Amino acid sequence: MWDGMTLVEGRSCGDCTVCCTWPTIDKPEIQKKSGSTCKHCLTGGCGIYETRFPVCKGFYCAWRTVDIFGEEWRPDKSGVMPYVETDGISQDFDLGTGIGLMLVGHPLKIVRQKWFQDFVVTGVMSSVPLFLSLPGPRGYQAATVSLNTDQMLDAISRGTVKDALEAALKILRGWDFAPAVITHTGNDVSTDDDG
Ligand code: SF4
Ligand code: SF4
Repeated sequence: MWDGMTLVEGRSCGDCTVCCTWPTIDKPEIQKKSGSTCKHCLTGGCGIYETRFPVCKGFYCAWRTVDIFGEEWRPDKSGVMPYVETDGISQDFDLGTGIGLMLVGHPLKIVRQKWFQDFVVTGVMSSVPLFLSLPGPRGYQAATVSLNTDQMLDAISRGTVKDALEAALKILRGWDFAPAVITHTGNDVSTDDDG
């Protein structure tokens, strides 16, 4: 929930429905498995947009709320859903919030892109808490690792960021994904397709 968060001016979700597929939703009024597209999702966006649920009205990815991301970062186009992360931030950072980069497209292709590597380098060198995240199988929690590591700093100094990101992705791919627990019932909007 990102109630009250300022949105980047002039930016809209358009046809993107990435956040209607990848996150788990567990609210009394709506439940959805991670990785399962909401049944209200249509090609052009939410089919019940005006009356969508409060949790949907309150959620925006970081592309909508943080102006460091350019137009090209729209999640359905970039394959990356950036999100504001407040959990697991080490007290070593001045910032109490960080950025998670969830790889919802082709993970290996994304980490091999220069624009993605450049973002990671800038973030790590600016001491922004950065996380790389990979969705689990449908119904499971995502795996997440910190990118603010000594290995990444070393890779930045050596110019081997691509290798360091591929190594981080390898860790994520080997993750023992935990099932996402859904506690509420009554309006499961999950579908069986892969989104
Ligand atoms: S109801 Fe919510 S999750 Fe479902 S398509 Fe609409 S905005 Fe997305
Ligand atoms: S992932 Fe971001 S851009 Fe895409 S629909 Fe959700 S809030 Fe909008």
